[in-house]
Amino acid sequence: MSGARRITILGSTGSIGASTLDVVARHPDRFEVVALTAHRRVDALFEQCAAHRPRLAVMLDADAAAELARRIRAAGIDCEVRAGIDALEAAAQAPAADTVVAAIVGIAGLRPTLAAARAGKRLLLANKEALVTAGPVFMAAVQAGGAALLPIDSEHNALFQALPRDYAREPARAGVRRILLTASGGPFRGVPLAALEAVTPDEACAHPNWVMGRKISVDSATMMNKGLEVIEAHWLFNVPAESIEVLIHPESVIHSLVEYLDGSVIAQLGNPDMRTPIACALGFPERISAGVDYLDLARTGALHFERPDLGRFPCLRLAYEALRAGGSAPTALNAANEVAVAEFFRGALRFPQIPELIEDVLANIPAAPLAGLGDVLAADRAAREQAARWLSSRGARLPGAGRRVAGTRAR
Ligand code: NAD
Ligand code: MG
Repeated sequence: MSGARRITILGSTGSIGASTLDVVARHPDRFEVVALTAHRRVDALFEQCAAHRPRLAVMLDADAAAELARRIRAAGIDCEVRAGIDALEAAAQAPAADTVVAAIVGIAGLRPTLAAARAGKRLLLANKEALVTAGPVFMAAVQAGGAALLPIDSEHNALFQALPRDYAREPARAGVRRILLTASGGPFRGVPLAALEAVTPDEACAHPNWVMGRKISVDSATMMNKGLEVIEAHWLFNVPAESIEVLIHPESVIHSLVEYLDGSVIAQLGNPDMRTPIACALGFPERISAGVDYLDLARTGALHFERPDLGRFPCLRLAYEALRAGGSAPTALNAANEVAVAEFFRGALRFPQIPELIEDVLANIPAAPLAGLGDVLAADRAAREQAARWLSSRGARLPGAGRRVAGTRAR
């Protein structure tokens, strides 16, 4: 298969991972799957190995990896199985692949995603938390490694398409005035504020337009997802906070827009299906089919827009504040959000308490400079410890709130 792109997918069993494999399988002449990785869902990774025949499969969890290895041997599949964060990192930088899809959820994806950047891969980024938590460190690694960074997040992929092809992270030189990030507003946009007290994780995950993993679904309901995306856009495109605007667009047809100095606004449109931005990044600079339904604007009818209500969505305000504070503030924002969402899933936190916890962490952990991965992980840990203090002061039960996330050990 000479000339085919050789692909490693970090987080292949998730929503983005599965959509990526769906696109890849449509183009066997273009893509070869080299390695797949997952946390601990053996059934899912085994099925993917049987279907896509990677040379390597990695699971974070050692017991899960042992079980996967047993099943792979029994099925007579030729695939090496490894376990642990070091193996994940090794898979991300291995020369066998030229392209790495970073689709682990949360700061757990930081180390392998950074490794792929340092190794100069063509890096297709879905794991926005890696960029949010470690912005300057991550961008320096991309630069030093000579990696090509291609955004998969639909809004950032839209911006990538609406910016000039030779855009060199200099908005003024490109005549860019503003970036407009669209947001659906999630499932609770029109729900009375008082009703948010009682919403359940399943209600928060019932997104009106997108089918996604559970963590990002809650982030969409709080609009923290859009806040993380503002920070992501800042680092990807070097645009300051005051030039990034969020626009609620409930139909999720326009995925984002770039406004130029002459008044032109260039947008990217499509049905809300992640296979479109994934195919755009996989094939770039060529266009390849993605298996999606094509957009029928006459059937869509009207497109609507409104400004976000920061009273309803305090997480969006907090994300802007963290971006403006700089340094480790976005790292703390992300850590507090990861703890809050996990506690919400556990039933230990009500939905409106998610921003309360994050606000407390940001108020109590001063922003510090981020010179390297060690600073990022220290800030992450300090924020989780503060989150644990907030939770215990409110009597929440606390398994894991102050614990370090798997895969974030500094080296
Ligand atoms: P998901 O929960 O569906 O999948 C997460 C994947 O990461 C799984 O393969 C899981 O095994 C792996 N994983 C989880 N924890 C891990 C750990 N500690 N160590 C190693 N691997 C681990 O998540 P998703 O919705 O696919 O999202 C993945 C990333 O893409 C997130 O950063 C999300 O913000 C971003 N993203 C997702 C969408 C979407 O439509 N789902 C859209 C834009 C951006
Ligand atoms: Mg997005």
